[in-house]
Amino acid sequence: KIRVRYAPSPTGHLHIGNARTALFNYLFARHNGGTFVIRIEDTDLKRNIADGEKSQLDNLKWLGMDWDEGPDKPGEFGPYRQSERLSIYKPLIKQLLDSGKAYESFVTEEELTKQREEQRAQGVAPHYVYEYQGMSAEEIKEKQAASRAAGLKPVVRIRVPENRTYEFDDIVKGPISFESDTIGGDFVIQKRDGMPTYNFAVVVDDHMMQITHVLRGDDHIANTPKQLVVYEAFGWEPPVFGHMTLIINTKTGKKLSKRDESVLQFIEQYRELGYLPDAMFNFITLLGWSPVGEKEIFTRKQLIKMFDPKRLSRSPASFDGKKLEWVNNQYVKNARMDRIANESIKQLIKAKRLPADPDSKTVAWARALTDLFKQQMSYMGEIVDLSSIFFLDPPVLDEAAKAELQDENAALVLQKFIEKVKTMPLFDAGEIQNVIYDIQAEIGVRGRKLYMPIRIGTTRKSHGPELAASVELLGRKKALAHLEQTLA
Ligand code: GLU
Repeated sequence: KIRVRYAPSPTGHLHIGNARTALFNYLFARHNGGTFVIRIEDTDLKRNIADGEKSQLDNLKWLGMDWDEGPDKPGEFGPYRQSERLSIYKPLIKQLLDSGKAYESFVTEEELTKQREEQRAQGVAPHYVYEYQGMSAEEIKEKQAASRAAGLKPVVRIRVPENRTYEFDDIVKGPISFESDTIGGDFVIQKRDGMPTYNFAVVVDDHMMQITHVLRGDDHIANTPKQLVVYEAFGWEPPVFGHMTLIINTKTGKKLSKRDESVLQFIEQYRELGYLPDAMFNFITLLGWSPVGEKEIFTRKQLIKMFDPKRLSRSPASFDGKKLEWVNNQYVKNARMDRIANESIKQLIKAKRLPADPDSKTVAWARALTDLFKQQMSYMGEIVDLSSIFFLDPPVLDEAAKAELQDENAALVLQKFIEKVKTMPLFDAGEIQNVIYDIQAEIGVRGRKLYMPIRIGTTRKSHGPELAASVELLGRKKALAHLEQTLA
């Protein structure tokens, strides 16, 4: 039975790249009727941030993922936070120490740094040099006792076998091999503070939690041989690995990095702007995975049904914010009114365009406003700017609009329209449209010469959504005020 995991470190908020890792694991599990586990890798205490875990989980949920086991969903293989699993790691470290597969190392950080600098200066890749070279077991013991007596704290290092080739068949990249002497020497599995390192804990947990497939980012590929050393030391069978391709920012052509400010990279930020979770889910799935055929818009259910890790791409995925806008617009256009009206009301409240607790009349009005702009919105936050004419003082007319009003009939059209707006009994889009037809019949002006003065006169802009509906939403009072200002 397939068991996969997403293993975030709570050192930050949910990043697009991590969301993708989570999502592919989720799809793989759900496609195969397997189990999706969330495990929090929080052993690097200095880097953890308050709320890091909560933010990760909240955003995964928002994207529409659920999991079968995790810190908030106890299961058979818990606890699901590494910081709570120290009693599992300790005896395993001891086992490696007792069997001589690992040893205590007292070289200090300063010495290590110095060593690395010297190695670099000599043009060799920095590596750990075995500190007990040529010593007998007895001498080693004495040296360790002396270090301890001097108050030094040890790390535990695992022995990396010499002249070994580590091989694995990566689901995404195909067969991969590493020579053991490129690993950089015996590496640390337990830090001075007693915490296990990532490369140790990840192996113990993946083994204990019976993980069958490890799908993760490409940035971990160099860790895999280290992890194979740990599997080997315990005599455990490693899982199947799959390392997902890099994500390239199409704007810069460079690898997407958290420092790159040319594009938003955290799920939270898109959420704030009013992107729809289904659209994000759809878009992220296409970052390094593709279905058969040209179609790109799919529901979650369809994606689960179609997901095949064989179609994970080997070449870098490109992250294109414009494409995300396009995908989101597809979802906005087709969304149920309730769904997007709620979101757009939230955005309008946040921008202080609407009161925090709008009454039912205002809500109905805002729904109609959403409907007016729905076709053109990439994300719901755009409603704030798109609809500004309904909230702010009418804009100063730009040159193009002024030129339109130079037309010989413009003033007459405006006068006629003002008269009718003042007297028409019902002020709704249908009636407004009828009034426009009446003016056409009365004075014989049609087309652009008829609509432009009315559009500019009411909305003060020469572009905008459907005219009669816009005027209705503006309301009689505002429409009149704008018209009179335009004519003045
Ligand atoms: N905690 C690691 C990370 O955040 C997980 C790596 C893995 O999946 O093995 O990158």
